[in-house]
Amino acid sequence: KAKESGKTSIQYFDALILNDFLQNVAIENKLKDAVFNQNFTLNFQPQYHIKDRKLRGMEALIRWKDSDGKMISPAVFIPIAEKNGAIVPIGTWVVEESIRCFADWKKKYTGHFVLSLNISAIQYKKTDFVDIVMQIIRKYDVDPHEIELEITESVLIDNFTEMTEKLCVLREYGFRISLDDFGTGYSSLSYLKGLPIDTLKIDKSFVDAMLVDDNARIITESIVYMVRKLGFETIAEGVETNEQFEYLKSIECDCIQGFLLGKPIPKDEVEKLLLRS
Ligand code: C2E
Ligand code: MG
Ligand code: MG
Ligand code: MG
Repeated sequence: KAKESGKTSIQYFDALILNDFLQNVAIENKLKDAVFNQNFTLNFQPQYHIKDRKLRGMEALIRWKDSDGKMISPAVFIPIAEKNGAIVPIGTWVVEESIRCFADWKKKYTGHFVLSLNISAIQYKKTDFVDIVMQIIRKYDVDPHEIELEITESVLIDNFTEMTEKLCVLREYGFRISLDDFGTGYSSLSYLKGLPIDTLKIDKSFVDAMLVDDNARIITESIVYMVRKLGFETIAEGVETNEQFEYLKSIECDCIQGFLLGKPIPKDEVEKLLLRS
């Protein structure tokens, strides 16, 4: 129907925007209660070394079931929380809860693995961010060398110098820094060389396209090659098939994370996984 006349199509479009807007307002309202009641949980997704399929780490991923019992994706509510500031208490909760779990696993499991945390640009910008993270590290007595803080390119765009200085401070404390979703932002290859990072995560969109599209394959291959030459570790995100795994292995990507080897799982399942590996 929207195609019948220009006028209807515009009204239809407006209705969609309005609907989106109302949905976001509803989410924003529920989010306030969720923060107050700490209605979140964490899942953890394993990451593996490609060479020997040994466990490399676990990425903490937040989960939220709203008051109606509906799961709302972090891809939907995190951007809303970033706009209204709720990301600060939510983000602190994620850091504390995931490190508490990690410390618990470390008591039962002696193998080496890393805990990866998604940290929002808003959190990095807070002047007390480093202090808060260090307080939590000391409280649970974990080694910062085993904690990896993920950043996205958007963190760097606003204020490159200030951000890289903060990342350097975090690395001096021993934290690992990882650049998440690489290739989706306004990636500039020139900034990579000066960046205080340890790991670069190649976005799922490249993994999805690399065996379908020649250009995507060439780009993925070149990224892996270049990143390795720069001395960073590479992780491919969203690996779902054996073909993707084998291809990434052939181009010497270091690690993978994806449904092929493991979906995000709750804390107790992580324990079982650790005992098995
Ligand atoms: P991300 O950090 O890039 O996390 C990877 C996302 O890809 C996760 O979605 C994960 O479940 C999904 N994924 C992993 N492997 C596969 C695969 O093989 N196939 C498919 N289809 N998906 C896969 P999730 O958990 O829905 O999180 C979405 C995004 O929300 C995250 O992307 C991250 O940007 C954000 N996020 C999640 N938890 C947090 C958090 O605690 N704090 C912040 N600031 N952001 C978070
Ligand atoms: Mg991430
Ligand atoms: Mg990612
Ligand atoms: Mg993402």
